[in-house]
Amino acid sequence: MIVILKPNIQKSSQAFQITLQALESLSGIDIDMHTVTGNRDVVTQIFLLGDTSQVSAENIEALPAVQSVVRISSEYKLLGKSRPEQSISFDYNGVSFSQSTLNIFAGLCAVDNKENVRKVFKLLQEHNQVCTRMGVYKPRTSPYAFHGLGKDSLPFIFEAAGEFGIKVIAMEVTHEKHIEEIAESLDKLGNPTGVMLQVGTRNAQNFELLKSIGGQSKFPILFKRGFGITLHESILAAEYLANAGNKNIVFCLRGVKSLLGAPHRNLVDVAHVSVVQRLTQMPVGFDPSHSVGDLSVDEHHISDISHTSAQAVIAGANLLLTDIHPNPPEALVDSRQAISLKKLPWYLQDVQLARECFLKRIELAKKYHKD
Ligand code: PEP
Ligand code: MN
Repeated sequence: MIVILKPNIQKSSQAFQITLQALESLSGIDIDMHTVTGNRDVVTQIFLLGDTSQVSAENIEALPAVQSVVRISSEYKLLGKSRPEQSISFDYNGVSFSQSTLNIFAGLCAVDNKENVRKVFKLLQEHNQVCTRMGVYKPRTSPYAFHGLGKDSLPFIFEAAGEFGIKVIAMEVTHEKHIEEIAESLDKLGNPTGVMLQVGTRNAQNFELLKSIGGQSKFPILFKRGFGITLHESILAAEYLANAGNKNIVFCLRGVKSLLGAPHRNLVDVAHVSVVQRLTQMPVGFDPSHSVGDLSVDEHHISDISHTSAQAVIAGANLLLTDIHPNPPEALVDSRQAISLKKLPWYLQDVQLARECFLKRIELAKKYHKD
């Protein structure tokens, strides 16, 4: 719960003292005070830390120095925050995930053949990348389209991943039996790599699938926001995963369906990186490929996919999920948005620049924001 005090309130004032005393007397609750100096006003926010479910917002709003009260985690019981710096943090197969890390998952939207998988892994290894994406169960708009190679492709993908040092593969599952297929295949091969189960945007509210994916603890989860529902509804859908037992979740933005996003495939939602990080403990990812949908470039030959990736990273994104392909025009799914392998080094360096910029922005914020 955040208690926002009236602007420019003096700490020596009676109103402030009465308010502080009342907050300090709440049992089982710690308080954490932050003062933000803006252009016009100095605003003090007091975070109430601990279980605030029994604290009456109305009573607090009635205190003399209080302007308003915001309950931050009332609905997001397992994934919401009670402290601003609270973050889900987990290591999976040697890779760390939290709201402070950045991992790039560049790979195939849909696996088409063994040779392309190996070409992608080889290049990733040359660039010290240990994460990737590999789609084998593809949810498609048309029943007549290519639906992925399915479980028969798992052994050659996992074997090659082990060979090239790939630690985590984001892989969408559209049915609970896919989880078993992946686990069995990995086990048979002696677990040469790891898998992060991806929930696609079309299944964001497939609650039975969410319960199955959240009900296992072997694999972490990459949850894509729903493309036609509110952010609030998507976060509640992620709560289904946590409520079923698995909190090792990265929440992935991927744009929302709206003609207002044209000419992009979806309305790009990078502005939600900091929102989801503020509202929840989940690391936040961004999929530039499915957001933007094509490789259009500006006068500097920088693509919208690169620009939006940089925008997400400069805002603190923790994961990028990016389509690449050895020969994009030949890709069986989403060929218009796949970055060629030749351009991958450029993309990775561009992302690195954005990350350095984000880290510098944090230092700048520390200089100006004094508690
Ligand atoms: C994908 O990442 O392969 C995919 C289908 O994305 P989305 O579910 O976001 O459309
Ligand atoms: Mn795709």
